[in-house]
Amino acid sequence: MTVLKILQYPDKRLKRIAVPVENFDQNIQKVIDDMFETHYATAHCAALASTQLDLEIPWHITVIDYSQEKNAPLCLVNGKIIHREGEQIDYEGCMSVYPDHIHEKVKRAKTIKVQYQDRLGNPHEIEAHDLFAKCIQHELDHLNGTLYIDHLHPIKIERIQRKVKKILRQAKN
Ligand code: ZN
Repeated sequence: MTVLKILQYPDKRLKRIAVPVENFDQNIQKVIDDMFETHYATAHCAALASTQLDLEIPWHITVIDYSQEKNAPLCLVNGKIIHREGEQIDYEGCMSVYPDHIHEKVKRAKTIKVQYQDRLGNPHEIEAHDLFAKCIQHELDHLNGTLYIDHLHPIKIERIQRKVKKILRQAKN
């Protein structure tokens, strides 16, 4: 297995739209294994979407595990939200947007229903609430080329861009 590079904002590849998975072949199994490997090799990582990673083709895959023991892996392939209900506003961070420095509050649905396929292509439907719902919405956004900061007011986005520039300058010195 391989630990993949996690792309950092403002890398343009974070804007890519994921490609639906049709053949659940060896290649896709390897991508999923590498994504989990990368997830577990990254401190404080709750989930990763393929569009965040240095992959030639960003397949429509997200790997999630925010359990303390890191023993509750969930892989959503071709995930789609089919129902949203309620509202929650909570802080989010992202492995691709300087998680040590940047956290912002984002409004999300409180409860969602999601259709997805597992890594073998079997169809599933789940209902997710609160943190789990927030996490899935964040990841499915990624697969649509959207970062959590894209939901913020333009003034806040500008502030974040300035902060990122400062971080990059400091990293160079
Ligand atoms: Zn993220």
